[in-house]
Amino acid sequence: MILIVDDSRENIISLKKVLEKNNFEVDTASSGEEALKKVLKRSYVLIILDVQMPGMDGFEVAEAISGYSKAKETAIIFLSAASSNIKLITRGYSSGGLDYITKPVDVNILLLKVKTFYRIYEQSRALNEMQNALLEEIEFRKEAERKKDEFISIASHELKTPLTSIKGYIQLLERSIDKGDIPTVKNRLYKVQDHIEKLNILVADLLDISKIESGKLKFNKKFFAIDPLLDNIIEVMQQSHPDFKIVKTESVCENVFGDEMRIEQVIINFITNAIKYSPGTTEIQIFSRVCDGEIYIAVKDFGIGMSKEHQQKVFGKFYRVEETSERFQGLGIGLFICQQIIQRHKGTIGVKSSPGKGSEFYFYLPLNQNKEENH
Ligand code: ADP
Repeated sequence: MILIVDDSRENIISLKKVLEKNNFEVDTASSGEEALKKVLKRSYVLIILDVQMPGMDGFEVAEAISGYSKAKETAIIFLSAASSNIKLITRGYSSGGLDYITKPVDVNILLLKVKTFYRIYEQSRALNEMQNALLEEIEFRKEAERKKDEFISIASHELKTPLTSIKGYIQLLERSIDKGDIPTVKNRLYKVQDHIEKLNILVADLLDISKIESGKLKFNKKFFAIDPLLDNIIEVMQQSHPDFKIVKTESVCENVFGDEMRIEQVIINFITNAIKYSPGTTEIQIFSRVCDGEIYIAVKDFGIGMSKEHQQKVFGKFYRVEETSERFQGLGIGLFICQQIIQRHKGTIGVKSSPGKGSEFYFYLPLNQNKEENH
């Protein structure tokens, strides 16, 4: 947008006509004071400014707007009766570009200058945009690098914990064997197995992450029945977590097209989290239902829950809810892997939750889909 500032109405009308004919958007002001008010309110690419005006003259206007943030990149073309006073021009104005035209205005020269300023303006805007995008990219990479470093340190710690326990239990196991104390031997063996399983899950998650990063996470999809899968999962999880009651509250007899083991992995992850983040509670509910041609599978707990702001972010890589991260160990990759798996099945994943009341982690998978398009 161009602002024409001139006390002569005829000048304004004729300049406006020429510029509008050349597809420039034009605004006008008939005094320096009116121009200042307009520049305060909006940004102009260019101001065509008459030097000789009653009240504030053109130079004073230029000097005044040089401090306005809205006029940071605004160029000015002065219209002056003679070129002799032009050296005064640069006195106060150092913001955008400056130029002048002597009166009577040669319309062709004016248009040439206006077009040049517009070109410069467009180029500098494109440069600014590029610079901002680059700065954003740098910030994004720095943050990713920081998260990766943090992840490596947490991952090493998480791997070391079960390893240390295994080492300790094996030493104790040796003593129990020497004593011939079979019940204690069995108990310690069970503990070792438990920690090896933890280690196994951790390493499997780390491998999945690296497969996702390199685009090598493969799926072996076929039709499978969802309800028996839920029953199997519940049986296994119930055995390893006897303190919890894992109940199926609703189910459907549907066949789903997908990688059964990967879908099982998602549900087990939901249940493991439901147990981990629900200390002091005893029930976990699982259910499946059909909604609008999709199957909805959910795991509901009555644990610590989380506020709205975390609910989308928990599916991001390495994301952990900060307020509770000290209390519960973890790497912040389980839900990210789940999200990738569901996404690769053309499904959606989400959570409904409220702090202190519990969470319902769910996913939708399309039913009756074409086998070919979902590989
Ligand atoms: P991890 O549990 O290893 O931190 P996840 O990716 O499985 O990683 O989960 C990411 C975060 O989401 C967790 O750190 C936790 O803050 C939050 N979260 C996951 N499941 C639950 C749940 N059932 N209840 C409350 N918070 C949860």
